[in-house]
Amino acid sequence: MGIRENVRHLLSQLPDDVILLAATKSRSVDEIREAIDAGIRVIGENYVQEAAKKYEVLGKVVEWHLIGHLQRNKVKKAVRIFDVIETVDSEKIAAEINKRCSEINKIMPVMIEINSGKEPQKAGVYPEEALKLAEYIVSCKHLKLIGVMTMGPVVKNPEDIRPYFRLTHKIFEKLKREFPECEIKYLSMGMTDTWKIAVEEGANIVRIGTGIFGPRKTKHNML
Ligand SMILES: *Cc1c(COP(=O)(O)O)cnc(C)c1O
Repeated sequence: MGIRENVRHLLSQLPDDVILLAATKSRSVDEIREAIDAGIRVIGENYVQEAAKKYEVLGKVVEWHLIGHLQRNKVKKAVRIFDVIETVDSEKIAAEINKRCSEINKIMPVMIEINSGKEPQKAGVYPEEALKLAEYIVSCKHLKLIGVMTMGPVVKNPEDIRPYFRLTHKIFEKLKREFPECEIKYLSMGMTDTWKIAVEEGANIVRIGTGIFGPRKTKHNML
């Protein structure tokens, strides 16, 4: 199946209140355009440099989410491109986003990335650290906390990821209770092999790459 058919098929299976985010790392501008033509309204990029090149060509035609780890020296550029940063995982990076947004008078919607499998090599805060980071984000004038995101561990059987999605959903609900004044609305989890389980566990953003564009040709980004 082609990109168009994949997008149509996924949209027809997803509940109306779940956003289909196309994970576009390593995909060309033409491939992304095809996905947009088929109904994609939100794309997710992992690398600021790669996103910047595509953004020059595509512009604001879709909502741009950052779904990869953000380094401090890339924040200034990132805040000009992205509409949402899904991967805030430290006070340090939150502070830098806040500072760079204050310079351009922008309020950045952000999400907290949870390292739900507590894997030391992976990005994201450990579940027990989420509340503290949320308090910090809420104190930043140029940040708006809108949700949480998780990758979860790599599993052989998709069903094995369910406990990590469930845990992330619990954190999402807790943050909503703790910060009723914030509009914490989004729970971003689930990829090509796991999106059905994610939706069952309350996700309202699923991030799909391979399931839309086919297998990735290279492991790393194309730049
Ligand atoms: C690549 C990627 C995805 C999509 O993965 P697929 O298995 O290709 O659907 C989702 N989220 C993040 C953060 C990614 O880097």
